[in-house]
Amino acid sequence: MGLVINRSEFLQGDLQARSRPIRPPWSLPEMQFRSQCDNCGHCLQKCPTHIIEFGRGKLPTINFDEGECLFCGDCVEECNSGSLSKTLFQQKAAPWTHKVQVTEKCLNHQDVLCRSCGDRCPERAIVFRPRTGGRISLEIKLESCSGCGACVEPCPVQAVVMATPSSDITPTKKTKLENCA
Ligand code: SF4
Ligand code: SF4
Repeated sequence: MGLVINRSEFLQGDLQARSRPIRPPWSLPEMQFRSQCDNCGHCLQKCPTHIIEFGRGKLPTINFDEGECLFCGDCVEECNSGSLSKTLFQQKAAPWTHKVQVTEKCLNHQDVLCRSCGDRCPERAIVFRPRTGGRISLEIKLESCSGCGACVEPCPVQAVVMATPSSDITPTKKTKLENCA
């Protein structure tokens, strides 16, 4: 089934649901999640990296500014409403669909060398390659990215964001950066 958007997203013209918050891993699809979550907050209390917070409607939302997901499943185990799926977790299904994106705010676009995001990536999904002329290229290997968010907090200019796949994200996205490396 394709993406199902809600009324608010439709009225805002957000047909790709880009404004939709990131839910905890192994969440049910958004509409089911919203109707089943009972706002108990057990997942918030249990998360060892404190990345779950209450968002709009007192619904659990991920904030990668606080840290990364360890995929420990503690939030899922604590969820009694079924809005976080124990079945998906036990089946080792993909925890979510979002992946990393590096925006134009990246310092490397301004001739400032920075590798902070890549240094923190446990999957080596962000790769910097030297190029001729003292430049570097930043390559994102989307197929390796787990969406853990470890690369978000280290970025000094908030250039790293998480995005759900859409037409403008390809399996391996290469961004050539002009830089005085
Ligand atoms: S899987 Fe673990 S680290 Fe990730 S959000 Fe749930 S409790 Fe937090
Ligand atoms: S989200 Fe995690 S796996 Fe993906 S690039 Fe960032 S640190 Fe690496």
